[in-house]
Amino acid sequence: MVVADQVCKNFGALNVLTGVTLEVQRGEVACLIGPSGSGKSTFLRCVNHLEKVNAGRLTVDGELIGYRERGGKLYELSPKEAGRQRRDIGMVFQHFNLFPHRTVLENIIEAPVLVKGQSKAQASERALDLLTQVGLRAKADAYPAQLSGGQQQRVAIARALAMDPKLMLFDEPTSALDPELVGDVLEVMRSLAKDGMTMLVVTHEMGFAREVADQLVFMDGGVVVEKGDPREILSNPQHERTQSFLSKLL
Ligand code: ATP
Ligand code: MG
Repeated sequence: MVVADQVCKNFGALNVLTGVTLEVQRGEVACLIGPSGSGKSTFLRCVNHLEKVNAGRLTVDGELIGYRERGGKLYELSPKEAGRQRRDIGMVFQHFNLFPHRTVLENIIEAPVLVKGQSKAQASERALDLLTQVGLRAKADAYPAQLSGGQQQRVAIARALAMDPKLMLFDEPTSALDPELVGDVLEVMRSLAKDGMTMLVVTHEMGFAREVADQLVFMDGGVVVEKGDPREILSNPQHERTQSFLSKLL
């Protein structure tokens, strides 16, 4: 589903991704870990087109992200074309970015109505199903400020799912939450994984990674240092950099 081959990204003189190579299969959950500044968020942003890769190839479901290839040459996609690609990829950030002046339900139906042209009734029906799925059916008419951080994050997940994405990206979805609120969000993610969603998750929740991830990817300095079975990497990391990172984490 996601294939990154020697993906590079720089901001001016700063080389942030210097050749990221990884693959996430359909239905697979990959957890991405690594020190601050190693390029995890930048990589997710490239997958979701919020940043353009400078070199290497990045494809989602076989489609080259951000570019079109014609006659062996690459052409940048127009903003409209990029937007169409982005529609199929859901992203959940550390901070939930819900619209504060809209109810939970209104937040969720916004994109399906505006971008997909669904009727309000149709989108609302689906939104209520999604709210049931994340355990927040009763909060449909509440405003974001009336919810806990964990509840807001579950609404953000429901909002992303409302677009029927083929891939979900999560960037530290629980790291801004009070510890007692983390579990409910992880539970929603776990059930999403069980239902077969393809997921790329930046997280330092090692319990989640161990239990849910099919693949654990350790990034450092803009490259993938080590990847593989989470249990194996967590119990027996091969690279010194992975060892040292994990020892600080535990
Ligand atoms: P963290 O664990 O702290 O979230 P990260 O692994 O997600 O870190 P990134 O956010 O991808 O790291 O950042 C990698 C590097 O790229 C950092 O040095 C950061 O300052 C730099 N960077 C990220 N975005 C930009 C930008 N838009 N312009 C310039 N530099 C940037
Ligand atoms: Mg980050």
